[in-house]
Amino acid sequence: MSEVVIATRNAGKLNEFEAYLTPIGFKVISLPEGIVLPPEDGESLDENAFIKAQHGRRVLGKSCIGDDSGLFVDFLDGAPGVVSARFAGDSATDEDNIAKLLRLLDGVEPSLRGAEFRCTLCYCHEGENGPTVFARGIIRGQITTHERGNAGFGYDPIFVPHGANGRSFAEMTQLEKSTMSHRGKALEALVSVLSDTD
Ligand code: IMP
Repeated sequence: MSEVVIATRNAGKLNEFEAYLTPIGFKVISLPEGIVLPPEDGESLDENAFIKAQHGRRVLGKSCIGDDSGLFVDFLDGAPGVVSARFAGDSATDEDNIAKLLRLLDGVEPSLRGAEFRCTLCYCHEGENGPTVFARGIIRGQITTHERGNAGFGYDPIFVPHGANGRSFAEMTQLEKSTMSHRGKALEALVSVLSDTD
């Protein structure tokens, strides 16, 4: 069974990776304690995902997956984008980020509130010159005018994906969200590439 380390400290993400990768024969390993991930200071999701996967592979000598994701709002020319986690400042909470976004969209009509979540996964196969695979996923939707639901994290309470009967990500179970989310789609794409190469 091939081992793969997921370069994240987020337990929810780890479970999601396991759900997709275990069925195709991977043993999913969490990032060992003591491994410090480099800062996410790349200019794109691809760059950040690669930085994490490459660092994990180099330090651990095992195949490693890095991920990065963000919310891209049409009316704000793609902001917050790659800086979604620190939109309202370096130590901003999810609430701070949501408040800033809703303020910037105050009075903007529904037809102009389009947005999308994007996710990039980068798989670095073990070995110094091992192959690198990128997989990406996008989900389009709309930014609400106020928060809805308590589940999830980040911008979930203000994002209503298309095809969800008006429910926000925070009004869904983790499984429901995963079947349509940017991360779920990127995982599906990665699984299809990794299944083909094995
Ligand atoms: P990361 O991929 O965990 O680094 O995500 C960066 C930031 O994007 C998070 O801190 C969230 O603010 C936002 N984000 C990414 N994916 C999601 C999601 O599925 N729901 C809500 N917010 C998300």
